[in-house]
Amino acid sequence: MKWDMHVHTQASFDSEMTSAEAAKAAREKNIGIAFTEHLDFECDSDLVCMPDDWSGYLEINRPLRSQGVLLGLEIGLTVNTRALGRKASCECESDFVIGSVHVVEGRDIFTDFFSQDLPAREIYRKYLKCTLAVIENCAFFDSLGHIDYPSRYSPFPVKNIEYHEFKLEYGEIFTALLDYKKALEINTSRLNDVDFRKNASLIMKGFSDCGGSLVTIGSDAHRACDLGRNLEAGYEIAAENSLSPVYFREREAFPIQL
Ligand SMILES: [Zn+2]
Ligand SMILES: [Zn+2]
Repeated sequence: MKWDMHVHTQASFDSEMTSAEAAKAAREKNIGIAFTEHLDFECDSDLVCMPDDWSGYLEINRPLRSQGVLLGLEIGLTVNTRALGRKASCECESDFVIGSVHVVEGRDIFTDFFSQDLPAREIYRKYLKCTLAVIENCAFFDSLGHIDYPSRYSPFPVKNIEYHEFKLEYGEIFTALLDYKKALEINTSRLNDVDFRKNASLIMKGFSDCGGSLVTIGSDAHRACDLGRNLEAGYEIAAENSLSPVYFREREAFPIQL
């Protein structure tokens, strides 16, 4: 069974899908899913969820936990908030924790990261350097989420953080992931875009060439209709690059049998 290891429900501030709807959609599509709800301690949203009280989250999602439905979080990683992230990752009864970079040097990538008067190359490099720093400082996550995240909101003509352009920085990130025994996510949300898919494949080849093996594959769905979106393409990229897709249960990686 394929797994979609990145799904947001109404426990996340930007999703209205109920966890029951998500579980039903997953059954219909015959895929396993992990709820990976947002937990950001430093971002522009004032809707940061559940930093102190886990009862609401667990009350909603725990009854649905099953063989095919796992509980997880997507924690926004920053060096400043690592203690909070670490505490949350321990307290949340999660099967799986995605670590994501949503904020760089205090600037939210969704809102004001790109308002700096800097060339694309410098902005992208800042993001990659920040990603390296949080891996080295926040070892409480299981898989690094959407390594391509800034390209979703980039105002520059070249939206992708091209693998060939930043091979050195990507290499440092892959080495850190391997040093800390972390997986890398293949985020499938935009794999229907030819240019994006090409760059995603190159990034995953780079990870593989560096000795990387474990990948999680997730759609980042916020609506039931997006659950499992482009999942096939994600699994294809893994296979093309000899990478092993895994799911996590109780924070332990298990191979996905296809
Ligand atoms: Zn994210
Ligand atoms: Zn997400």
